[in-house]
Order: sequence, then structure tokens, then C-alpha cells
Amino acid sequence: MNAPELRAEDVTVRFAGLTALDEVSFTVAPGSAHALIGPNGAGKSTCFNVLSGLYRPATGSVRLGETELTRLAPHRIAALGVARTFQNIVTTEGTVADNLMLGRHVLTRAGFTASALHLPRARREQREHLARVREIAELTGLAAHFDTPVALLSYGDRKRVELARALCLEPRVLLLDEPVAGMNAAERARTAGVIRDVRAELGLSVVLVEHDMGLVMRLADEVTVLDFGRAIAHGSPDDVRRDPEVLRAYLGT
Ligand code: ADP
Ligand code: MG
Repeated sequence: MNAPELRAEDVTVRFAGLTALDEVSFTVAPGSAHALIGPNGAGKSTCFNVLSGLYRPATGSVRLGETELTRLAPHRIAALGVARTFQNIVTTEGTVADNLMLGRHVLTRAGFTASALHLPRARREQREHLARVREIAELTGLAAHFDTPVALLSYGDRKRVELARALCLEPRVLLLDEPVAGMNAAERARTAGVIRDVRAELGLSVVLVEHDMGLVMRLADEVTVLDFGRAIAHGSPDDVRRDPEVLRAYLGT
């Protein structure tokens, strides 16, 4: 198991007059799959933006194991092993291989000048990255399209390129913001299988924002429910599904 615990404690985020997160706490156990669910506008993406360092919370903290992430820049948090995908970003440029190699940038040691001059060390490093990136394409069901321009792929494959690119960072914690949104049933099932496989194979933790309750039930060990910026329930998928406050939040009764 290579994933440390990820812990958010009393995280509050405010935007001019709006409290997007109100003292939200949750813990992602090492190697677990943790789903963050809740109605639109509940604060799920804001939460990811805090975990990945794009937003600084007004109060509260985020820790990865013993390391305080709260005031670190996004690239530092990425280098510590927290990778993410974005809800509405799907790449349209380059081949699958190009996009995955981009995901290796944070890990490149040889530096830009050495790479540009094609020095032996940089060439060797490049070969190693390429070999690993092929393995990740294999794991994510993209191997057959390795040299294909992403613009020619189906929507489901293109969205899975985002997941694969995040994996290229060799994360210990993977944050997936609506990884199957917009996919058809077959693509959803395939992507769910990939998420399950990479977690088992790589021993990482997954934090998943998802509307598809079937997928949450199948993938998540634990669920945190957000509603109007507050964490209103924690528990197993079965527990939260029966929670009266959760039903109220979803059904508005
Ligand atoms: P979710 O992902 O659960 O649908 P978000 O985290 O995107 O919800 O948004 C939570 C609330 O915060 C919403 O009311 C949204 O309009 C608001 N919000 C999110 N990001 C910003 C921002 N950068 N500036 C102002 N308001 C924002
Ligand atoms: Mg969102």
C-alpha cells in the first residue's frame, strides 16, 4: 500500500457572500475509494480545488499523512502524489502518447536544457517515461490508441485519457471529478472497471465525485455527502443511501 491517509479538517471556502464549503471534514483511508456526492452546487468541485491547492480555504486544513498541504502551490501538491482530473476538461490536442507524456512533466529530472539538447541522460529518461506511459495506456484500456490523435477518439476514450494522464504522475491519491459524466452505459462500465483495476494494481486511494449512484455503490468503500457546502453524512454507500437527511437533500422533501 503506497497511499497515506488524506484528511480534510473543518475546511471553509467563501466566495463573495457565498459559503461554498462550511467546516467540511472527512478522511480518506489509505488505499480506499471515497466518494463525494451531493446535489449540483453542493461544493464537490470546490472541495477538489482545495485538496489540489487551487483554492486556499478561509479556515481548516488538508493533510496527506503527516504533511500539511493547505498552503502549498498546486505543483507541490502534485509532486507529493495528489493527482486530479477536472470535471469539464477533455483534451483535444495531440496523440494519446503526447498527452500521457505531458503527465510525466512533474517527474522529469533531467531538466529542460538537457532534454532540448538530447543529452544521453535526458534520452534515457525519455525512454523510461515512454515505457511507463505505455504500461499506463495498457492499464487504462488506451493501448490500442497509443499513437492516435485524441481528436479521433470516442468521447469515452478521450475522457479516459484525462484519467490516464493523472496516473502518469504516479499519484498516491487520485482525485476524479465526475469521471464518467457524459459517457454512455458501455463506456461507464468500462471506465468503472479501469478505476477498480488501477486502484488494485497501483495501491492508490481514489476520491471520486460522481452523480451515477450505481457507480458509487459499486466503487466506493465510503461516502461523504455534501449539501449546500455542509457534510451532512458519512458512511458506507448502503448507510448513506438510507440516511433520511440525504434523502431530503436529494429529493427536496
Ligand atoms: P459542485 O461541484 O458540487 O456542483 P461547486 O463546488 O462547483 O459545486 O460549487 C459550489 C458553490 O460555489 C456553487 O454555488 C458555485 O456557484 C460556487 N462557486 C464555485 N466556484 C466558484 C468561484 N470560483 N467563484 C464564485 N463562486 C463559485
Ligand atoms: Mg462539480
